Parts: sequence; C-alpha cells; structure tokens
Amino acid sequence: MSEQERAEEIRRVMVIAAHPDDPEFSCAGTVAKWAAMGREITYLLLTSGDKGSHDAAVRPGQIAGRREEEQRAAATVLGVKEVIYLNYPDGVLENTLELRRRLCLILRERQPDVVLTIDPWRHYQLHPDHRAAGQAALDAIFAAREWYIFPEQLLGERQPWRVKEAYLFWAQDPDHWEDVSETVNQRIAALKNHRSQVEQRLDTLEERVRQGLREAGKDHGLEYAEAFKRLKF
Ligand SMILES: [Zn+2]
Repeated sequence: MSEQERAEEIRRVMVIAAHPDDPEFSCAGTVAKWAAMGREITYLLLTSGDKGSHDAAVRPGQIAGRREEEQRAAATVLGVKEVIYLNYPDGVLENTLELRRRLCLILRERQPDVVLTIDPWRHYQLHPDHRAAGQAALDAIFAAREWYIFPEQLLGERQPWRVKEAYLFWAQDPDHWEDVSETVNQRIAALKNHRSQVEQRLDTLEERVRQGLREAGKDHGLEYAEAFKRLKF
C-alpha cells in the first residue's frame, strides 16, 4: 500500500496522553493539520493533571477542573472533536490490567485508525505517568485486536479492532517527521490556553516551541516539524 493510499484510509485519530497539555507540548501541530484534512480527532486524557501546581496551597480538586477547561479550550483551537477524561490521579498513574481493559474497550468502541501516544521506551524518562500512559495505550492497542483478550467486551457490534498505526511522540528514535509549517501558529495558540502551566514562562514560550520544531525539521527539509516513531501494525 502506498503512503497516499494509507493516508486516505485514516479517518479517525485518537491521542492518548497522561495530562492536559501533553498533546500541545508534543503533537498539536499534527493534530491541527489532520483535523483540517477532515480527520476526526479525539483526545483521551488519563489524568486531569490534578497535581499540576507547585503551590502547596492549591488542592488537587481545584486545579483539575481548571486544567480540564484549559485542555478543552486548546482542543477547540486545533479542531479536536472531543476531549475525554478518565480522571486517574495525577502523578501515580500505573499501567494496570484495569486501565488496559478500559482503554481496550474504548478502542473497540471508538475504532480509531491511528493512535498518537507517548513513547514509553524513551530512555531515562522520569515522569511515571508518561511511561505508564504510553505503555498502557500500546498494550491496549494489542489487546483490542485479539478476540481472546477481554472477550467479555465482544458483544454485538463491539468486535476486535485493529488500529493501523501508532505515532509515538517524545520518541527515543524518531523515524517520521510531520511537516507542521502551516499549523505552528495554531499549536502555539493552543498551548497558551494552558495558562496554569505556562503563565510564568509565557514570554519565552513561543520562541522555545518554534526553536524545537525548527530543530526537528532542519535535517528533513522542513521549516517546522514534529518528530515521531511510527509503528505500523
Ligand atoms: Zn505530562
């Protein structure tokens, strides 16, 4: 199958990440580009980032609601159709069988052609949520296609589902560079909605994002690019 044919087959895309703002710090230029092409994009956030404040006076419940709103606003800028929160506690996410079962069910019901998620094999990645989210997403992609895993989910129209590709962001060994020159401004505008996270570095944020995207694109003839490890199944 040619790249062209492969691309035409992609209709539904799911981004599976640990926290609100993960997509905007990684793959939002690609998300905006694909949404503009007519692809249906869904965000699935495993936590609501309820520990995302270094101010001990801010309680987890207070910041979670705000971060969900910020994420919805960012998603709107990009053309994302829906944002789903699973509300696991921030900072202590684990790739449990229960989480894998839940993600598997969502994949079987929503049937995304492509999943964008965190590379769990990136070396020396400290944040446990990032490791766990990527691992759980990939384990669920595997489970969703096998009729013998979580077979109790397979009823009526809900059948095994084969995701065609995973694009891993924050990748250890990227092998695909998506041209985001047309959507870099949208990515920055979306990112600025995460005010609780970026407020204190707003003055340098835009340039740092541009710099990262330029760096990713420079050896590939692209002005701005997002780098991925692409797994084709
Ligand atoms: Zn994160």
